[in-house]
Amino acid sequence: MKKATKVLALILAMAMMACTLVACGSSADTTAADANTETAADTETEAADTEAAETEDAEEAAPAEGGTITFGTNAEFPPFEFVTANGVIGEFDGIDMAIAKQIAEENGMTAAIENMEFDSLLVALQNGQIDAVIAGMTITEERAEAVDFSMPYYTATQVMIVKEDSDIASAADMADKKICVIQGYTGEVCVNDMGYPYESFKKGTEAVMELVNGKCDVVVIDSATAAKYVSDNEGLKIVEDPDAFESEEYAIAVQKGNTELLDMINKAIEAKLADGTISELAVQYTEAASEE
Ligand code: GLN
Repeated sequence: MKKATKVLALILAMAMMACTLVACGSSADTTAADANTETAADTETEAADTEAAETEDAEEAAPAEGGTITFGTNAEFPPFEFVTANGVIGEFDGIDMAIAKQIAEENGMTAAIENMEFDSLLVALQNGQIDAVIAGMTITEERAEAVDFSMPYYTATQVMIVKEDSDIASAADMADKKICVIQGYTGEVCVNDMGYPYESFKKGTEAVMELVNGKCDVVVIDSATAAKYVSDNEGLKIVEDPDAFESEEYAIAVQKGNTELLDMINKAIEAKLADGTISELAVQYTEAASEE
């Protein structure tokens, strides 16, 4: 077998064992392996050497000691990224922000954050405005066509936030309800795929306010963020439906072909998964959220 074929075969086997990389339904499973093909191929190569060319063009910039990695995020997604008085990187805090800071600093670099709308992140990455995206971003087939994803660092799922007295018990119960989603999130993709009408908001907090104020019946959003909103607002609960919403994997995105940065990120994630750093951060930021 050619090397590329071997890698692909390995990835297909891994993808079949692991949960699917696509958010909803089972129809998209067959192509899920595509999303990680490049990642796996890249991790096979040896350590990225750091003889980075000094260039201002982010498209060609390789990670170099003393340099800066500019991560794009959308700091509206607690506990992964949010704005606070004293964050780990300036005013930015959360699981992703701590991971970004560690990746940069462990490689003798500094992490900078550019905060923007979730929808703009991949375009900004493609334009070279940012070096990487860390934003609780789910690997999807469509996104993986535009950018390269690191190995996954967190598994989540979409859930439904409803009022405590709601009769919604499954995704099918949303059929005649008013559904709120956040623009560009995988939750929107899921509800759209289900064929239900919905209203989309720019921020999770806006959608949750609609729910609290009785203007919508259900918000579909990622599990850990949903838990944070439910703990922050009285009278809400989470309804899960694993048959309708499959697991999703969060990963860091880099420009297609930026193997040096991707290798650096993959090595860091691999180590942080193995030594428990990422699960510790998840516990720390989830507890911090519920103590507020
Ligand atoms: N995981 C979801 C997605 O990738 C939401 C991410 C986010 O809002 N930061 O679409």
